[in-house]
Amino acid sequence: MQFYSTNNKDLRVSFQEAVFNSLPQDKGLYMPESIPQLDPYFIKNIQQYSFQEIAFQIANAIIGKGIPADDLKKIINEAINFDAPLVFLNSETAVLELFHGPSYAFKDFGARFMSRVMGYFSNKGDQLLDVLVATSGDTGGAVALGFLGVEGTRVTILYPKGKVSKVQEDQLTTNGQNIRALEVDGTFDDCQALVKQAFNDPELNQKLRLTSANSINIARLIPQTFYYFWAYAQLKSQGLNEVVFTVPSGNFGNIGAGLLAYKMGLPVSHFVAGTNVNDTVPRFLNSGAYEPKASIQTLANAMDVGNPSNWVRIQDLFENNFEELKGMVSSYTYTDEETKVGMDELFNKYKYVACPHTAIAYLASEAYRKEYPGEYASVFLSTAHPCKFPEAIDSDVYKQVKLPVGAENLHGKPKLAEDLEVDYAAFKDYLIRNN
Ligand SMILES: *Cc1c(COP(=O)(O)O)cnc(C)c1O
Repeated sequence: MQFYSTNNKDLRVSFQEAVFNSLPQDKGLYMPESIPQLDPYFIKNIQQYSFQEIAFQIANAIIGKGIPADDLKKIINEAINFDAPLVFLNSETAVLELFHGPSYAFKDFGARFMSRVMGYFSNKGDQLLDVLVATSGDTGGAVALGFLGVEGTRVTILYPKGKVSKVQEDQLTTNGQNIRALEVDGTFDDCQALVKQAFNDPELNQKLRLTSANSINIARLIPQTFYYFWAYAQLKSQGLNEVVFTVPSGNFGNIGAGLLAYKMGLPVSHFVAGTNVNDTVPRFLNSGAYEPKASIQTLANAMDVGNPSNWVRIQDLFENNFEELKGMVSSYTYTDEETKVGMDELFNKYKYVACPHTAIAYLASEAYRKEYPGEYASVFLSTAHPCKFPEAIDSDVYKQVKLPVGAENLHGKPKLAEDLEVDYAAFKDYLIRNN
């Protein structure tokens, strides 16, 4: 399979190039040149396969000869080594829990798969691959733990001082080995600007082999399709066939992967995007006008995105057919106050402690069912474990949070981070000095 740029379908590159470039030169996004169609027999019998077997079928269909089957199987078995269970709240509503990976957030799927793909394409004797990543919290942890110990790679994470939670900071800063953390005296936007400047610095690019672990990388998108199929398999084994997925959305990579799964032949009735007040996509679905705006800080801060970078992929999947897209995707927007009500309701009704992102998905899922009642399973995605967002959760409810195994171990480890001012020269100097 070749991959084209959404800005120029004549520009085709191999899977390997798409992974290392991350972004085509023309600033489009890579997409598979054709959407592979899965064998209907496979879909019909999907409940007979394991999560890893399903993941292999999907990845193999998208990547094709880009990675030989046996190697791909190995990558998947290493990367997707944790479950995505469907937890029923009642007979028609279930949570798809995506937080059972090492960083307790769904970004583990993308980061673990991408790190192993990059390791696979790196040959002995190649120059060390330098992965630069700016994070507001969740991406950095997933990338750090995804690349930890992956040979031939080195990760540098920039995070805003005092703006990530304790668990997030521990995940970023206690790794050592091939992972380095820089605590930037500034905002997430400052971190991102420093990383961007590094990518555009010819002198630095001559010295170092730089790459990005951004969520627009095609190797992060592909593994996010896996769990939609796995959720469907779990529903089928319960005798359920009709499903509406609700996805808490920021950069729209997660729901984009769901829509790719649908286009590949997964029978989904409808998708719902839940957003916080960063409502660029909901406004677009109402008006047909795409008008990005500056991001606003909210409780669900991993979704504070004013100009979702994966949106063009979704437009591309629907060949810019607005009516078809509107027929398949709905959206609802929630304020912080409403998000808190959602967290309370999940706890009071179901004794389920959810992070704010998950609560937004729950609210949107309920809103859709109210507007369109029917016989279908409402599945909403839980994108992070609540322990990552203690400040956002009511303290009485938070007391009920069971820390995942391993979370306590993080606390005792020494913090390995260097301070950095918002100063490109200092950042560049750090990278060269520590090469
Ligand atoms: C990144 C993230 C999201 C948003 O996912 P997108 O793919 O950017 O839409 C939602 N919830 C959590 C916890 C996240 O870390």
